[in-house]
Amino acid sequence: MMREEIVFGPIHSRRLGSSLGINLLPEKGKICNFDCIYCECGWNKDGRGDTKLPTASMLREALESKLSACKAVGTPIDSITFSGDGEPTLNPDFPEIIDITLELRAKYYPKAVVSVLSNATMIGHEKVFEALRKVDNPILKLDAPTDELVRRINQPQGGYHVSDVVEGMLRFEGDFVMQTMFLRSPDFDSSEPEQLSAWMDIVRKVRPREVMVYTLDREAPASDLEKFTVEQMRELVKPLAEEGFKIQIRG
Ligand code: SF4
Repeated sequence: MMREEIVFGPIHSRRLGSSLGINLLPEKGKICNFDCIYCECGWNKDGRGDTKLPTASMLREALESKLSACKAVGTPIDSITFSGDGEPTLNPDFPEIIDITLELRAKYYPKAVVSVLSNATMIGHEKVFEALRKVDNPILKLDAPTDELVRRINQPQGGYHVSDVVEGMLRFEGDFVMQTMFLRSPDFDSSEPEQLSAWMDIVRKVRPREVMVYTLDREAPASDLEKFTVEQMRELVKPLAEEGFKIQIRG
């Protein structure tokens, strides 16, 4: 599933209401420093080779034009969400783009919330961290508690250490949402007790204000992946729920 525009929607989302999407990646390609086996945009190698990233001024033009057009006809917008074909924080203009988005949100839809879906690999970069601190919902991915399992599920390109991501998450002082995909394949199983317990220990350490667990929804590039039911996931996260963590489960 590829989005070909910088600003797309608004689409109706059960969770976010009327949601305007922002894609900071190329119009006809995917750029990510992960290559998740479940990525709805497909494998990185099958991206269509377009590497041209939208700039801050392109985003300003596209977003202002969409927001003013929606406002003129009374279209509601509850949420502005960065969720494009790849990792939004890899766009070098990301910090400036967040400032522009917050400025335009205040001008046109002051009640809309701004969310960023990120794989959290860039949170150690000061400017990216500062930008993520400014948005309402920094939604940070952590699918597995060990480097070994992350290698299997997310296939990071370049250096990646769960310990670095945990350090980065600690700096949010709990003001973020952690997002975790639960799935199993012949190779691994997110519900395996040792993995699950290590993942829960990380949640207890970084204490996100919300944990969002979900499972396969759309077609995945890897075969042999198995999803969990909502009931199974509810059972898996029960200890955290009982400890008072706010947990959202999406099947
Ligand atoms: S981090 Fe997101 S965009 Fe990147 S490969 Fe994984 S699912 Fe796809």
